[in-house]
Amino acid sequence: MLGEFLQEARVAYFSMEIALRSEIPTYAGGLGVLAGDTLRSSADLGLPLVAVTLVSRTGYFHQDIDASGNQQERPEGWDPARWARKLDAQVAVRIENRAVWVGAWLYVIESNLGGRSPVILLDTDLAENEPPDRQITDVLYGGDDAYRLKQEMVLGMAGVRILRALGFVISAYHMNEGHSALLGIELLRTHAYPPDDLRAGEFPYDLPRVREQCRFTTHTPVDAGHDRFAYSLVERLFTSDTYESHSGGGAAGPVDFAVLRELAGQDSLNMTRLALAVSDFVNGVAKRHAEVSARMFPGYRVRAITNGVHPYTWTAKSFRALFDQYVPGWCHEPELLSRADAIPDAEVLAAHTAAKKTLFDSVRALTGAVLRESVATLGFARRMTAYKRPDLLFTDLERLKSIAREHPIQVVLAGKAHPRDEEGKRLIRLLHEHARALSGAVPVVFLANYDLALAQQLVAGCDIWLNTPLPPMEASGTSGMKAAFNGVPSLSIPDGWWIEGCIEGVTGWSVEDSSSLYDKLAQVVLPCFYGPRWVAVMKGTLTKNPMYFNTQRMMRRYATEAYLR
Ligand SMILES: *Cc1c(COP(=O)(O)O)cnc(C)c1O
Repeated sequence: MLGEFLQEARVAYFSMEIALRSEIPTYAGGLGVLAGDTLRSSADLGLPLVAVTLVSRTGYFHQDIDASGNQQERPEGWDPARWARKLDAQVAVRIENRAVWVGAWLYVIESNLGGRSPVILLDTDLAENEPPDRQITDVLYGGDDAYRLKQEMVLGMAGVRILRALGFVISAYHMNEGHSALLGIELLRTHAYPPDDLRAGEFPYDLPRVREQCRFTTHTPVDAGHDRFAYSLVERLFTSDTYESHSGGGAAGPVDFAVLRELAGQDSLNMTRLALAVSDFVNGVAKRHAEVSARMFPGYRVRAITNGVHPYTWTAKSFRALFDQYVPGWCHEPELLSRADAIPDAEVLAAHTAAKKTLFDSVRALTGAVLRESVATLGFARRMTAYKRPDLLFTDLERLKSIAREHPIQVVLAGKAHPRDEEGKRLIRLLHEHARALSGAVPVVFLANYDLALAQQLVAGCDIWLNTPLPPMEASGTSGMKAAFNGVPSLSIPDGWWIEGCIEGVTGWSVEDSSSLYDKLAQVVLPCFYGPRWVAVMKGTLTKNPMYFNTQRMMRRYATEAYLR
């Protein structure tokens, strides 16, 4: 069943999370959605990739919100057999001196343009394994450091081995974030110099050969995004067998740990450092982010490949129909959307009204709240975490109320906080308090369990897409790009993609802080929304941003600059 994917050499794309579809909860947020869009575009363009990720049988988590605004988490199990096919290969990695067997499922991404992309889902839930080892691939970003390191050993080490066992010929390895950096160790092991050829103190592996094969994309300047593991833990989990000495397996080589420390940091195993050390192509995900990353990692050249979103996935039905009619070919070449100004104003407005209705029907079904179609609707949905500042809009509730007296507004919010992110959870509670305090003046609804399906409705059905991160923490941000595909302008702090995407008054507006946010809303954005010029802003958004901020362009850049080296 793999035959069709084995005929040509492929780029192995490793990612801890991939958003394959809404029913498959193997993702937590933007990183996974980007990985999914990357593979959807690869399928569209016929690029030879094979993706590797964990099967995450109990997902990230399902979010419920109780009456006081507390996030409740429960497992979000899924059945791989329903969507993927079990592959006939197993490999072992030794963890804590036990053989942990790793099996694989094949999920195939099918492009609406006809292409197909294979995704390998790694699974340790096998009868051969001890009960705790069967759970290694259960929870995405769950458990403690030991659990996480085991997952990363499975992803990086077993991932490389299973591709070989399945018969893939790999032309390059692309690490989407540092979680998979142990693949570099696995590759070094296969490029060890014969011990007899080595002189004392010489590096025992062909590092240049490994670097030629690896590419690394870093995704965040936020510290928690860079995994670090204590060497005491590393030494406990890595045994002489997982981490064979270059001389073929004897003692847990002090040499090997010395090499690891040299590559991954002396104080702790830093997965970002390791990924940098084994890759000869490194990039950030927006121009500003590449500059920030270059400062974080002196001595490395960090290029910029600005993120995008997958055109078909993120365009609402009503807009797909319009684009098919007026700019056929837009799914393959979104550049054509620069000609979307040929679409009559009334049809743009009607397509938006349809998307807004779809969202409002969902809001009503999910919360009972009835939003009004004539009222300016602000949307804010993303992972709930401190640097995203979901509370910035609510800095001064009296000011917000007085703005709404002049020009009515309503707000739709959504987002999950990581189960251990107490600040993120506090922000969710706070948003619920603000919603109560504003009731009667500004309707505010919070939709639980933000996922792909909800995101699709939100980015198309709101009128204005809000983003208020603390610079320079937003590496890229992609939800504003999704909104743009639906003619929804952004109102955002200039950080990440918005530095490149904002043409003031044409594709949206930039604001610096809460006070300029209020000023601009009151004096510019809302008067425009309630005036005759709004459709011009929608068309400015449609013609200027989707043509660039899409994963077809992004993947053509990875293909020509990172993969074909
Ligand atoms: C797009 C998306 C994100 C990322 O949004 P940002 O604006 O980059 O924070 C997170 N979660 C889901 C479900 C998404 O679709």
